[in-house]
Amino acid sequence: HERLSLAFERTGDPVAALRHHRAFYAVEREVQGERAAARARTVALQFETSRVRQEAHFERQRNEALADVNAALRSANDEKSALMEKLSHQATHDMLTGLPNRALLLDRFEHALVTAARYGRSLAVMFIDLDGFKLVNDTLGHHRGDELLIEVSKRFQATVRDCDTVARMGGDEFTVVVSEFQGHADASRVALRLIEALKAPIRLDDHEVTITASVGVSLFPEDGDQAEALARYADLALYRAKEEGRNTVRFYAPEMNETVQERSLIESALHGALERDEFALHFQPLVGVDGRTLMVEALLRWTHGVLGAVGPDRFIPSAEDSGAIVAIGNWVLRTALRQLAQWRAQGFEVQRVAVNVSPVQLSREDYVDSVTSALLESGLTGSSLELEITERIIVRDLQRVSLRLEALRLLGVTVAVDDFGAGYSSLSYLARLPVDVLKIDRTIVAAVGSQGAGERLVAAILAMGLALGLEVVAEGVETDVQFAALTNLGCQRFQGYLWTKPLPPTAVTAWLSRMPNPSGLLYLKP
Ligand code: C2E
Ligand code: CA
Ligand code: CA
Repeated sequence: HERLSLAFERTGDPVAALRHHRAFYAVEREVQGERAAARARTVALQFETSRVRQEAHFERQRNEALADVNAALRSANDEKSALMEKLSHQATHDMLTGLPNRALLLDRFEHALVTAARYGRSLAVMFIDLDGFKLVNDTLGHHRGDELLIEVSKRFQATVRDCDTVARMGGDEFTVVVSEFQGHADASRVALRLIEALKAPIRLDDHEVTITASVGVSLFPEDGDQAEALARYADLALYRAKEEGRNTVRFYAPEMNETVQERSLIESALHGALERDEFALHFQPLVGVDGRTLMVEALLRWTHGVLGAVGPDRFIPSAEDSGAIVAIGNWVLRTALRQLAQWRAQGFEVQRVAVNVSPVQLSREDYVDSVTSALLESGLTGSSLELEITERIIVRDLQRVSLRLEALRLLGVTVAVDDFGAGYSSLSYLARLPVDVLKIDRTIVAAVGSQGAGERLVAAILAMGLALGLEVVAEGVETDVQFAALTNLGCQRFQGYLWTKPLPPTAVTAWLSRMPNPSGLLYLKP
């Protein structure tokens, strides 16, 4: 309106003004239209830009998601293969110690055999069994037993070379396959190193335990060329090592086959022997310098219906393995005390009766109780009883054993260390243990009088025992020469064939009533 009235004022012609106004409008509209189009294009462009940008963003997101999925897949795969690896490790390794298990060992052993055969090399198979591991498990608990096995594994592994295999077969059994060595001596060295590796005590929480091992060895190609046979032979050799006192190495020899058959025969024959009343006690006197009987040692005898008489050295290891020794030992204790009471009732002076105690018995919580009730049953006091323990138990669980021995001594019981010098000769333990008597092993006594180191050894043991205030007994005295030498060294008590073998009770009664003429046996110092 304003513009139209302005044009009318300027031209004075309403038509021209209108025309002009229309033209102006047309231009104006055109311009506006173009502007709108431009705006629309800008908007479209903006839209397009943001679309592209968004697309890129989506693309990136898609890629990232893809990468994530890929990574997830990859890690799932890794996890799977790790799991597979773990599974296959578990199938071939022992969970507790991480050592190869029986299956892997057999595999490696077969391989090693093939290689050794191809290149003309030797191979040794060593079966190792820890001595009295069951005892550790029973007395200190499975947890500590496991800890012990782990430590033992570590020590074994550190002992052998990388090319050798140490495997755990289960329980306390290990196998070592040794390759690339030169002959028998080399194999012995390795086996001894394995035993040596256990020498240092093992700390289990607040306990310090010393464990020993027995090793059985078979050799390729000397003993055989089949894995299965060699394994069986190493096992036989191990049996023999166990029988011969443990803590030792034995190599397979063909005659061992018979021993093992006998052993399993004994084990089954022993079953029910107590109920069938197949046991008896013999007694061997312990004499003083003047030959007078001071006391007696009870020694177990077994006569089986079929096997006949079987010596304690042959059946006690089996009885210990099966645990039968607990009931048998209890029978020995009660029977020995009853017999002593009877001799006393007949007027014989016998200081006390000595009874051999197995480590398996002494490791039991109820051992002191069983001694107490045996004493009560016999009507005798503790001073009538001497318990003979071996060094085998001493090195095992010193603390608990010491406490039990201390409790027994409070009852008046005498504690003797048997077979001293035969095994570990743990002099340091001896000083710390509550013992009263030292019995020098007969293998050492046998060396007396032969002018060798034997005599010096006995002299040293005697001097040490006496210095510790112990009563020292020489076992297995067979000759006058030995008796003379031992007396000169200051020994006061003797036991051996020089006086008599172990005798059945009636023969002991006769022996006691004869009261051997002291002067006949008295050794006069020159
Ligand atoms: P030990 O306790 O050292 O018993 C002494 C062994 O030496 C006995 O053998 C005895 O007969 C033998 N002996 C005695 N004097 C002489 C001698 O002058 N020369 C020789 N060469 N030997 C002599 P035995 O009766 O065959 O007993 C062997 C082992 O069996 C015993 O050795 C002991 O460790 C074990 N034993 C015997 N009875 C029992 C028992 O009731 N319980 C336990 N746990 N072990 C027992
Ligand atoms: Ca004995
Ligand atoms: Ca002995």
